[in-house]
Amino acid sequence: MLKCTACGRGYSLRKPYQRCECGEPLELELFKSVPGIGRRVWERFSGFFPFDLKPELSLGEGDTPLTKAKKLSKELGVKLYLKNETTNPTWSFKDRGTYLGIHRALQLGFEKIGTVSTGNMAASVAAYGAYAGLETYILVSSTIAEEKLKALEVYGAKIIKVHGDYGELYYKSLEIGQKKGIYFINSDDPFRIEGYKSISFEIIEEITPDYVVIPTSSGGLFRGIVKGFLELKESGLIENLPRFVVVQAEGCSPICKAFNSGKDRIERFESPHTIAHAIENPYPPSGNAVLRRLRELDGLCVTVRDGEILEAQRALGREGLFVQPASATGVSAIRKLRERGVIKEGAKVVSILTGAGLKTLSHIEAPKVEECSLESLEECFRW
Ligand SMILES: *Cc1c(COP(=O)(O)O)cnc(C)c1O
Ligand SMILES: [Zn+2]
Repeated sequence: MLKCTACGRGYSLRKPYQRCECGEPLELELFKSVPGIGRRVWERFSGFFPFDLKPELSLGEGDTPLTKAKKLSKELGVKLYLKNETTNPTWSFKDRGTYLGIHRALQLGFEKIGTVSTGNMAASVAAYGAYAGLETYILVSSTIAEEKLKALEVYGAKIIKVHGDYGELYYKSLEIGQKKGIYFINSDDPFRIEGYKSISFEIIEEITPDYVVIPTSSGGLFRGIVKGFLELKESGLIENLPRFVVVQAEGCSPICKAFNSGKDRIERFESPHTIAHAIENPYPPSGNAVLRRLRELDGLCVTVRDGEILEAQRALGREGLFVQPASATGVSAIRKLRERGVIKEGAKVVSILTGAGLKTLSHIEAPKVEECSLESLEECFRW
Protein backbone atom coordinates (compact mmCIF):
# COMPACT_ATOMS: atom_id res chain seq x y z
CA MET A 1 0.00 0.00 0.00
CA LEU A 2 1.19 3.50 -0.87
CA LYS A 3 0.30 6.28 1.55
CA CYS A 4 0.27 10.04 1.17
CA THR A 5 3.00 11.70 3.22
CA ALA A 6 0.61 14.57 4.05
CA CYS A 7 -3.03 13.44 4.29
CA GLY A 8 -2.42 9.71 4.81
CA ARG A 9 -4.70 8.60 2.01
CA GLY A 10 -3.92 5.08 0.74
CA TYR A 11 -3.32 4.00 -2.86
CA SER A 12 -3.14 0.54 -4.40
CA LEU A 13 0.26 -0.81 -5.39
CA ARG A 14 -1.23 -2.33 -8.53
CA LYS A 15 -1.29 1.00 -10.39
CA PRO A 16 1.50 3.49 -11.12
CA TYR A 17 0.46 6.05 -8.51
CA GLN A 18 3.26 8.46 -7.65
CA ARG A 19 1.53 11.44 -6.02
CA CYS A 20 -1.60 11.96 -3.98
CA GLU A 21 -4.61 13.85 -5.27
CA CYS A 22 -3.78 16.44 -2.63
CA GLY A 23 -0.55 17.09 -4.54
CA GLU A 24 1.89 15.63 -2.03
CA PRO A 25 4.22 12.65 -2.62
CA LEU A 26 3.33 9.05 -1.79
CA GLU A 27 5.46 6.66 0.22
CA LEU A 28 5.47 2.97 1.04
CA GLU A 29 4.75 2.05 4.63
CA LEU A 30 7.68 1.31 6.95
CA PHE A 31 9.30 -2.11 6.56
CA LYS A 32 10.26 -4.09 9.62
CA SER A 33 12.74 -6.90 9.22
CA VAL A 34 15.98 -8.54 10.31
CA PRO A 35 19.17 -8.19 8.26
CA GLY A 36 21.01 -11.28 7.08
CA ILE A 37 24.26 -12.08 5.38
CA GLY A 38 25.10 -11.42 1.76
CA ARG A 39 27.69 -9.78 -0.40
CA ARG A 40 25.46 -6.85 -1.40
CA VAL A 41 23.36 -4.49 0.67
CA TRP A 42 20.35 -5.58 -1.42
CA GLU A 43 20.86 -9.15 -0.16
CA ARG A 44 21.71 -8.35 3.45
CA PHE A 45 18.67 -6.08 3.84
CA SER A 46 16.39 -7.88 1.39
CA GLY A 47 13.51 -7.89 3.90
CA PHE A 48 13.42 -4.09 3.81
CA PHE A 49 12.77 -3.74 0.09
CA PRO A 50 9.45 -4.04 -1.76
CA PHE A 51 10.62 -6.60 -4.34
CA ASP A 52 13.06 -9.44 -4.79
CA LEU A 53 15.85 -7.38 -6.29
CA LYS A 54 17.26 -8.89 -9.45
CA PRO A 55 21.02 -9.08 -9.98
CA GLU A 56 20.43 -9.02 -13.74
CA LEU A 57 19.14 -5.42 -13.50
CA SER A 58 22.06 -4.28 -11.35
CA LEU A 59 25.06 -2.30 -12.52
CA GLY A 60 26.77 -2.68 -9.14
CA GLU A 61 25.21 0.24 -7.23
CA GLY A 62 25.53 0.64 -3.47
CA ASP A 63 28.02 -0.74 -0.93
CA THR A 64 30.03 2.45 -1.21
CA PRO A 65 32.96 3.33 1.09
CA LEU A 66 32.53 5.20 4.38
CA THR A 67 35.89 6.84 4.97
CA LYS A 68 37.03 8.72 8.03
CA ALA A 69 38.16 12.22 7.09
CA LYS A 70 41.52 12.58 8.82
CA LYS A 71 42.38 16.25 8.36
CA LEU A 72 38.83 17.59 8.44
CA SER A 73 37.97 15.63 11.58
CA LYS A 74 40.84 17.32 13.39
CA GLU A 75 40.11 20.71 11.94
CA LEU A 76 36.40 20.61 12.73
CA GLY A 77 36.71 18.83 16.07
CA VAL A 78 34.31 16.04 15.16
CA LYS A 79 34.57 12.46 13.98
CA LEU A 80 33.74 13.08 10.34
CA TYR A 81 32.80 10.16 8.09
CA LEU A 82 32.35 10.59 4.36
CA LYS A 83 29.86 8.37 2.55
CA ASN A 84 31.45 8.27 -0.86
CA GLU A 85 28.61 7.92 -3.37
CA THR A 86 30.89 8.85 -6.26
CA THR A 87 31.79 5.17 -6.65
CA ASN A 88 28.33 4.25 -7.97
CA PRO A 89 28.03 3.08 -11.62
CA THR A 90 27.11 6.55 -12.94
CA TRP A 91 29.00 8.36 -10.18
CA SER A 92 26.14 9.47 -7.96
CA PHE A 93 23.74 7.99 -5.38
CA LYS A 94 20.91 8.31 -7.93
CA ASP A 95 21.80 4.77 -9.11
CA ARG A 96 20.44 3.25 -5.89
CA GLY A 97 17.03 4.73 -6.59
CA THR A 98 17.08 4.05 -10.30
CA TYR A 99 17.78 0.37 -9.59
CA LEU A 100 14.55 0.12 -7.57
CA GLY A 101 12.66 2.31 -10.04
CA ILE A 102 13.49 -0.02 -12.93
CA HIS A 103 12.06 -2.95 -10.95
CA ARG A 104 8.88 -0.98 -10.41
CA ALA A 105 8.52 -0.09 -14.09
CA LEU A 106 8.97 -3.74 -15.11
CA GLN A 107 6.63 -4.98 -12.37
CA LEU A 108 3.87 -2.79 -13.80
CA GLY A 109 4.62 -3.98 -17.33
CA PHE A 110 6.10 -0.76 -18.73
CA GLU A 111 8.48 -0.98 -21.68
CA LYS A 112 9.35 2.70 -21.64
CA ILE A 113 10.85 4.76 -18.85
CA GLY A 114 11.95 8.33 -18.44
CA THR A 115 13.09 11.05 -16.10
CA VAL A 116 13.33 14.80 -15.70
CA SER A 117 16.81 15.88 -14.73
CA THR A 118 19.57 18.41 -15.05
CA GLY A 119 22.36 15.86 -14.89
CA ASN A 120 23.00 13.01 -12.52
CA MET A 121 19.59 11.40 -12.61
CA ALA A 122 19.54 11.66 -16.39
CA ALA A 123 22.77 9.68 -16.67
CA SER A 124 21.56 7.16 -14.13
CA VAL A 125 18.19 6.46 -15.75
CA ALA A 126 19.79 6.38 -19.22
CA ALA A 127 22.32 3.78 -18.05
CA TYR A 128 19.85 1.51 -16.24
CA GLY A 129 17.27 1.85 -19.02
CA ALA A 130 19.86 0.78 -21.57
CA TYR A 131 20.96 -2.19 -19.46
CA ALA A 132 17.37 -3.36 -18.93
CA GLY A 133 16.61 -2.94 -22.64
CA LEU A 134 13.91 -0.31 -22.09
CA GLU A 135 13.16 2.65 -24.33
CA THR A 136 14.39 5.63 -22.29
CA TYR A 137 13.34 9.28 -22.49
CA ILE A 138 15.33 11.99 -20.79
CA LEU A 139 13.77 15.43 -20.43
CA VAL A 140 16.35 18.11 -19.74
CA SER A 141 16.04 21.83 -19.15
CA SER A 142 17.08 24.20 -21.90
CA THR A 143 19.87 25.55 -19.68
CA ILE A 144 21.68 22.21 -19.35
CA ALA A 145 25.46 22.46 -19.75
CA GLU A 146 26.98 20.91 -22.85
CA GLU A 147 29.32 18.72 -20.75
CA LYS A 148 26.31 17.06 -19.12
CA LEU A 149 24.59 16.38 -22.44
CA LYS A 150 27.77 14.77 -23.72
CA ALA A 151 27.94 12.48 -20.70
CA LEU A 152 24.46 11.22 -21.61
CA GLU A 153 25.09 10.52 -25.24
CA VAL A 154 26.84 7.17 -24.88
CA TYR A 155 23.87 5.42 -23.25
CA GLY A 156 21.69 5.86 -26.31
CA ALA A 157 18.65 7.43 -24.62
CA LYS A 158 16.24 9.77 -26.37
CA ILE A 159 17.01 13.25 -25.09
CA ILE A 160 14.45 16.05 -25.23
CA LYS A 161 15.45 19.60 -24.36
CA VAL A 162 12.43 21.42 -22.95
CA HIS A 163 12.06 25.18 -23.05
CA GLY A 164 9.88 26.49 -20.24
CA ASP A 165 9.45 26.31 -16.48
CA TYR A 166 11.64 23.49 -15.19
CA GLY A 167 9.62 23.10 -11.99
CA GLU A 168 6.46 22.46 -13.99
CA LEU A 169 8.19 19.92 -16.19
CA TYR A 170 8.15 17.41 -13.32
CA TYR A 171 4.32 17.42 -13.18
CA LYS A 172 3.93 17.58 -16.94
CA SER A 173 6.15 14.52 -17.36
CA LEU A 174 3.92 12.46 -15.05
CA GLU A 175 0.89 13.48 -17.12
CA ILE A 176 2.54 12.60 -20.40
CA GLY A 177 3.82 9.36 -18.94
CA GLN A 178 0.26 8.28 -18.21
CA LYS A 179 -0.84 9.01 -21.76
CA LYS A 180 2.15 7.49 -23.51
CA GLY A 181 2.84 4.52 -21.28
CA ILE A 182 6.17 5.83 -19.96
CA TYR A 183 7.08 5.26 -16.32
CA PHE A 184 8.85 8.41 -15.18
CA ILE A 185 11.33 7.59 -12.41
CA ASN A 186 11.56 11.18 -11.19
CA SER A 187 13.46 12.57 -8.24
CA ASP A 188 11.03 11.57 -5.48
CA ASP A 189 9.27 8.57 -6.99
CA PRO A 190 8.19 6.34 -4.06
CA PHE A 191 10.37 3.47 -5.26
CA ARG A 192 13.40 5.67 -5.82
CA ILE A 193 13.05 6.59 -2.14
CA GLU A 194 13.13 2.89 -1.27
CA GLY A 195 16.48 2.55 -3.02
CA TYR A 196 18.01 5.45 -1.10
CA LYS A 197 17.28 3.70 2.21
CA SER A 198 20.23 1.43 1.47
CA ILE A 199 22.56 4.32 2.38
CA SER A 200 21.26 4.27 5.96
CA PHE A 201 21.61 0.51 6.19
CA GLU A 202 25.23 0.65 5.07
CA ILE A 203 26.06 3.46 7.50
CA ILE A 204 24.61 1.59 10.44
CA GLU A 205 26.65 -1.51 9.59
CA GLU A 206 29.76 0.57 10.35
CA ILE A 207 28.87 3.33 12.84
CA THR A 208 25.95 4.85 14.76
CA PRO A 209 26.13 8.52 13.79
CA ASP A 210 24.97 11.49 15.87
CA TYR A 211 24.34 13.57 12.74
CA VAL A 212 23.70 12.79 9.08
CA VAL A 213 24.17 15.72 6.72
CA ILE A 214 22.27 15.59 3.42
CA PRO A 215 22.58 17.94 0.41
CA THR A 216 18.97 18.49 -0.61
CA SER A 217 17.24 19.55 -3.80
CA SER A 218 13.97 17.75 -4.59
CA GLY A 219 14.05 16.08 -1.17
CA GLY A 220 14.12 12.50 -2.42
CA LEU A 221 17.50 11.62 -0.92
CA PHE A 222 16.59 13.11 2.44
CA ARG A 223 13.30 11.21 2.55
CA GLY A 224 15.03 7.94 1.66
CA ILE A 225 17.76 8.24 4.28
CA VAL A 226 15.28 9.23 7.00
CA LYS A 227 12.95 6.36 6.06
CA GLY A 228 15.89 3.95 6.26
CA PHE A 229 16.74 5.07 9.79
CA LEU A 230 13.09 4.96 10.87
CA GLU A 231 12.88 1.35 9.67
CA LEU A 232 16.08 0.45 11.53
CA LYS A 233 14.53 1.87 14.68
CA GLU A 234 11.17 0.16 14.11
CA SER A 235 13.04 -3.10 13.69
CA GLY A 236 14.91 -2.62 16.96
CA LEU A 237 18.30 -2.40 15.25
CA ILE A 238 19.11 1.08 16.61
CA GLU A 239 17.95 2.81 19.77
CA ASN A 240 18.13 6.43 18.70
CA LEU A 241 17.84 8.25 15.42
CA PRO A 242 20.67 10.56 14.38
CA ARG A 243 19.87 14.24 13.96
CA PHE A 244 19.20 14.94 10.28
CA VAL A 245 20.64 18.05 8.64
CA VAL A 246 19.33 19.36 5.32
CA VAL A 247 21.89 21.46 3.42
CA GLN A 248 20.95 23.81 0.62
CA ALA A 249 22.84 26.41 -1.37
CA GLU A 250 22.03 29.89 -0.16
CA GLY A 251 21.20 30.90 -3.74
CA CYS A 252 18.49 28.24 -3.95
CA SER A 253 17.14 27.32 -0.54
CA PRO A 254 13.34 27.05 -0.63
CA ILE A 255 13.22 24.41 2.12
CA CYS A 256 15.50 26.20 4.60
CA LYS A 257 13.70 29.47 3.91
CA ALA A 258 10.36 27.95 4.88
CA PHE A 259 11.77 25.94 7.79
CA ASN A 260 13.73 28.74 9.38
CA SER A 261 10.84 31.20 9.10
CA GLY A 262 8.35 28.79 10.68
CA LYS A 263 6.24 28.15 7.56
CA ASP A 264 4.77 24.74 6.91
CA ARG A 265 4.74 24.99 3.12
CA ILE A 266 7.56 25.85 0.78
CA GLU A 267 7.32 28.63 -1.78
CA ARG A 268 8.96 28.81 -5.16
CA PHE A 269 12.46 30.30 -4.76
CA GLU A 270 12.81 33.27 -7.10
CA SER A 271 15.87 33.68 -9.36
CA PRO A 272 17.85 30.71 -8.08
CA HIS A 273 21.58 30.93 -8.59
CA THR A 274 24.35 28.68 -7.33
CA ILE A 275 27.42 26.81 -8.50
CA ALA A 276 25.87 23.65 -6.99
CA HIS A 277 23.58 22.93 -9.95
CA ALA A 278 22.66 19.43 -8.76
CA ILE A 279 20.75 20.97 -5.86
CA GLU A 280 19.22 23.91 -7.70
CA ASN A 281 15.52 22.98 -7.70
CA PRO A 282 13.56 26.17 -6.90
CA TYR A 283 10.31 24.30 -6.18
CA PRO A 284 11.20 20.87 -4.80
CA PRO A 285 8.42 18.29 -5.25
CA SER A 286 9.16 16.77 -1.84
CA GLY A 287 9.80 20.12 -0.17
CA ASN A 288 6.74 20.01 2.07
CA ALA A 289 7.37 16.37 2.96
CA VAL A 290 10.92 17.27 4.02
CA LEU A 291 9.62 20.18 6.10
CA ARG A 292 7.21 17.88 7.94
CA ARG A 293 9.97 15.40 8.72
CA LEU A 294 12.38 18.11 9.88
CA ARG A 295 9.81 19.40 12.36
CA GLU A 296 8.73 15.98 13.55
CA LEU A 297 12.31 14.77 14.12
CA ASP A 298 13.89 18.03 15.31
CA GLY A 299 16.14 18.31 12.28
CA LEU A 300 18.19 21.24 11.05
CA CYS A 301 18.29 23.20 7.79
CA VAL A 302 21.51 25.01 6.87
CA THR A 303 22.39 27.15 3.85
CA VAL A 304 25.90 27.66 2.51
CA ARG A 305 27.39 30.14 0.04
CA ASP A 306 29.12 29.32 -3.23
CA GLY A 307 32.49 30.49 -1.87
CA GLU A 308 32.16 28.17 1.11
CA ILE A 309 31.15 25.32 -1.17
CA LEU A 310 34.22 25.72 -3.37
CA GLU A 311 36.45 25.86 -0.29
CA ALA A 312 34.90 22.63 0.98
CA GLN A 313 35.41 21.01 -2.42
CA ARG A 314 39.15 21.73 -2.06
CA ALA A 315 39.22 20.47 1.51
CA LEU A 316 37.68 17.19 0.37
CA GLY A 317 40.29 17.02 -2.37
CA ARG A 318 42.91 17.04 0.37
CA GLU A 319 41.15 14.00 1.84
CA GLY A 320 41.66 12.30 -1.53
CA LEU A 321 38.08 12.74 -2.73
CA PHE A 322 36.93 14.78 -5.71
CA VAL A 323 33.24 15.61 -5.46
CA GLN A 324 30.99 18.02 -7.28
CA PRO A 325 30.00 21.32 -5.63
CA ALA A 326 26.57 20.04 -4.50
CA SER A 327 28.30 17.23 -2.65
CA ALA A 328 30.74 19.51 -0.85
CA THR A 329 27.95 21.53 0.81
CA GLY A 330 27.77 19.12 3.75
CA VAL A 331 31.28 19.95 4.94
CA SER A 332 30.52 23.69 4.83
CA ALA A 333 27.34 23.08 6.83
CA ILE A 334 29.21 21.09 9.49
CA ARG A 335 31.72 23.92 9.83
CA LYS A 336 28.85 26.37 10.42
CA LEU A 337 27.11 24.15 12.94
CA ARG A 338 30.38 23.76 14.84
CA GLU A 339 30.95 27.52 14.88
CA ARG A 340 27.42 28.04 16.21
CA GLY A 341 28.02 25.42 18.88
CA VAL A 342 25.16 23.23 17.64
CA ILE A 343 27.32 20.18 16.93
CA LYS A 344 29.38 19.31 20.03
CA GLU A 345 33.05 18.42 19.96
CA GLY A 346 33.71 14.77 19.21
CA ALA A 347 30.27 14.09 17.68
CA LYS A 348 30.07 11.39 15.02
CA VAL A 349 28.98 13.07 11.82
CA VAL A 350 28.31 11.53 8.41
CA SER A 351 28.36 13.74 5.33
CA ILE A 352 26.88 12.25 2.18
CA LEU A 353 29.19 12.88 -0.78
CA THR A 354 26.43 12.62 -3.34
CA GLY A 355 28.27 12.77 -6.69
CA ALA A 356 31.61 12.88 -8.47
CA GLY A 357 33.62 15.98 -9.33
CA LEU A 358 34.66 14.85 -12.79
CA LYS A 359 31.10 15.52 -13.95
CA THR A 360 31.39 19.25 -13.39
CA LEU A 361 34.74 20.52 -14.57
CA SER A 362 33.77 23.82 -16.16
CA HIS A 363 33.95 25.91 -12.97
CA ILE A 364 37.39 24.60 -12.03
CA GLU A 365 40.36 26.76 -12.95
CA ALA A 366 43.37 25.27 -14.69
CA PRO A 367 46.03 24.52 -12.07
CA LYS A 368 49.30 26.43 -11.81
CA VAL A 369 51.84 24.31 -13.64
CA GLU A 370 55.60 24.42 -13.48
CA GLU A 371 57.20 24.45 -16.97
CA CYS A 372 60.52 22.68 -17.32
CA SER A 373 62.81 21.37 -20.03
CA LEU A 374 63.94 17.79 -19.84
CA GLU A 375 67.59 18.89 -19.47
CA SER A 376 66.93 21.13 -16.47
CA LEU A 377 64.32 18.88 -14.84
CA GLU A 378 66.39 18.41 -11.69
CA GLU A 379 66.58 22.16 -11.00
CA CYS A 380 62.81 22.36 -11.21
CA PHE A 381 62.47 20.48 -7.90
CA ARG A 382 63.13 23.51 -5.76
CA TRP A 383 60.19 23.38 -3.40
C1 LIG B 1 20.22 14.67 -6.93
C2 LIG B 1 21.37 15.18 -6.19
C3 LIG B 1 21.25 15.76 -4.92
C4 LIG B 1 19.93 16.04 -4.24
O1 LIG B 1 19.06 14.95 -4.17
P1 LIG B 1 17.49 15.17 -4.09
O2 LIG B 1 16.94 13.81 -3.98
O3 LIG B 1 17.06 15.86 -5.35
O4 LIG B 1 17.21 16.02 -2.90
C5 LIG B 1 22.42 16.14 -4.26
N1 LIG B 1 23.63 16.00 -4.83
C6 LIG B 1 23.78 15.45 -6.05
C7 LIG B 1 25.15 15.33 -6.61
C8 LIG B 1 22.66 15.03 -6.77
O5 LIG B 1 22.83 14.51 -7.99
ZN1 LIG C 1 -2.59 13.44 0.25
